[in-house]
Amino acid sequence: MAIKDIRLFGDPVLRTPAAEVVDFDKELRVLVKDLEDTMLDAPGAGLAAPQLGVGLRVFTYCVDDVVGHLVNPVLDLSDEQQEGPEGCLSVPGVTADTKRALSVVAKGQNMYGEPVLLEGTQLLARAVQHETDHLDGILFVDRLDPEARKAAMRAIREAEWFGEPPPLVKVSPHATFGLGM
Ligand code: ZN
Repeated sequence: MAIKDIRLFGDPVLRTPAAEVVDFDKELRVLVKDLEDTMLDAPGAGLAAPQLGVGLRVFTYCVDDVVGHLVNPVLDLSDEQQEGPEGCLSVPGVTADTKRALSVVAKGQNMYGEPVLLEGTQLLARAVQHETDHLDGILFVDRLDPEARKAAMRAIREAEWFGEPPPLVKVSPHATFGLGM
């Protein structure tokens, strides 16, 4: 078990686009294990490598008790949308209704470099979009309409964890109700 510190909103690593994985080595497998352990401990529906301070295009997910990971994801999104509450382990205590594609087909690789196709709807589709956004330096608050974004930013500024020097403790003091990603 290796549970790592989760980087919080305000940490520049969360705003830095992650690099394509080219080496499918032991280091990558350790990273996937760290992501899984930290995600399950939080607990969260997903976790992306930049949230552990690692700038590589890798994320893990845990939806309906299925745990998996994807490397170098490329998404194909449905036109049909869903709207529902979303949160982020890097933004503890803040959730907001967020529009996402209803379903997604994600192409990528597993940690051994083998091609993987991941199809999902509803929460899995939401998690895959949320985590892939992390790899591009995008956070869910960026997806909100201006008014909801303003409210979320206010909640972040008022949060007790905001503005402290990173890295911070991994355990969120706030319940995420399984919606953190
Ligand atoms: Zn997140």
